[in-house]
Amino acid sequence: MSSSSNSEVLYRKWRPQSFSELVGQDPITQTVRNSLSSGRVAHAYLFCGPRGTGKTSMGRLLAKAANCLQPADGEPCNTCDSCQSYLEGRAMDLVEMDAASNRGIEEIRKLRDRVGLAPMAGRYKVYLVDEVHMLTAEAYNALLKTLEEPPPHIIFILATTESHKVPATIISRCQRFDFHRLPLAAVVSRLEYICRQESIQIEEVALQEIARSASGSLRDAINLVEQLSNYYGSSPSLEQVRDSLGLTADARARQLVRDLLEKDLSAGLKLVAAVRDDGVDMRQFQREVVNYLRSLLVVKAGAEDTLDLAAEEVEEMRSLSSAAASEDILRALRGFGQADFRDDPQSSLPLELALAEHVLGPAAPAQVAAGEVEPGTRPPFPSGRQAAPKQPSSLRTRLQEKEEQAAPQPPKTPEPPSAGESQPPKTAEPPSAGESKETEAAPAAATAAGDDVLQRVRLACKEADRRVAAYLNGSCEVQSLENGVLVLAFYKQFAFHREKIEAPANRRMVEEAASRVLGQTITLECTVCERQRPEGKPAMRGGHLVQAARQMGARPVVGGKGGSSGESRDES
Ligand SMILES: [Zn+2]
Repeated sequence: MSSSSNSEVLYRKWRPQSFSELVGQDPITQTVRNSLSSGRVAHAYLFCGPRGTGKTSMGRLLAKAANCLQPADGEPCNTCDSCQSYLEGRAMDLVEMDAASNRGIEEIRKLRDRVGLAPMAGRYKVYLVDEVHMLTAEAYNALLKTLEEPPPHIIFILATTESHKVPATIISRCQRFDFHRLPLAAVVSRLEYICRQESIQIEEVALQEIARSASGSLRDAINLVEQLSNYYGSSPSLEQVRDSLGLTADARARQLVRDLLEKDLSAGLKLVAAVRDDGVDMRQFQREVVNYLRSLLVVKAGAEDTLDLAAEEVEEMRSLSSAAASEDILRALRGFGQADFRDDPQSSLPLELALAEHVLGPAAPAQVAAGEVEPGTRPPFPSGRQAAPKQPSSLRTRLQEKEEQAAPQPPKTPEPPSAGESQPPKTAEPPSAGESKETEAAPAAATAAGDDVLQRVRLACKEADRRVAAYLNGSCEVQSLENGVLVLAFYKQFAFHREKIEAPANRRMVEEAASRVLGQTITLECTVCERQRPEGKPAMRGGHLVQAARQMGARPVVGGKGGSSGESRDES
């Protein structure tokens, strides 16, 4: 439920309008208020911390208070002309940018030309840059130039959920504040207040569960309350609340980690598909999975004091992490941390790959050669399981249905063509990746396992030299792997590729990569395959994983949802 596409009516409506209303960040609030009341406002602030902890709210308040005509003790008066313009969302001197969107980058580019201009109405022109760690190098340079000599009427407020990605040159020019996850009690008390104002009745135990499930993000907690009351009416029961909480992004990130550590690929793939179908931002979901894995590792190491977590959460993590090896968690953390969303931020493919690669693990070389699988082990590419993906009956989906029944509206954003059956997938996957002839070939398991080895060798090469990896892409197959000798058979039309791979330096690179991947010293032999590349056999790019994913019930991934890049995130 962390998606930016939520309606967030309540969240917006109950944004704090004065510092005293801002929940749970007292030391920061106090410092900011002091600087305002003493007239020593900094020119650049960096607000770091998890989402929903008040960074953007604090930034807006700071902008409003700095321009208030009759501030009292650092607080904005909320009645003067300037404050009114902020309350009505028409303040000319507050420029909000989302560095995660193209628009944000474009605006930073123009920033240098514009900072010289005096504020329109108030004393300060305030630039609030959200997710500043997402800026391009070019945009950073533009920002840095401005930060080096900020005109006196400018205040920069940079907010980020990932401060470690902000260059030190930027950080050193800012006054930095670290926002912490809000204490459970603070979230609950704010929820109680909002519920009272909105005549929503939710018992305290349920509010506590909501707060816990939102993991210290007030924004998420308020959005949950809104969705619950939209769906269940003004007094949702504890049971209804519990039902719905199983569907939050946080809960599902936890569940995915559980599936991951239990090596349940099928459940994991279904979960990822359901999360995507609910319109959750996949990058955000990835971050949650990575954060959770990181916390697990920290808890397993006995350093949970550094984590800022509720006791119940730590307990849950302790029991989960005790059943898993540290290396396993570390490997998962690495795999999910490296999931690459550059091609398409809405795609579920990167997570599916990370999941499959983790669960399928390193293929045993002996099995590749023999084309068989030891009894009792999970076959590397289970086939024949055609479990149809269960349509997710999420709160969000149900809500949408309800809305549509209530009042037919013009379609807001065109739905991306829903996966697969009738349309070809629009990812980087070449067409026909799915129903390739491989599925009917007899030694499918051997081919698939060979493909898997080849794919991993190729990826390992890619780190050192992209060209070498490219020569291996779709040009050959593993003919055998025995006694440390890996035989690659190049299809007839790829003689050139074979020559390139046989060049001594490249051969060495492939051998080193294969040795690393397979955990033994590998000698490479290249032969000519009598066949052409089988029709329908795609160049690799993880195609076999996608196929495995399909066999396990996942749906093909479809290209991005247009327009999401320009959308303002309104992170706080
Ligand atoms: Zn005012």
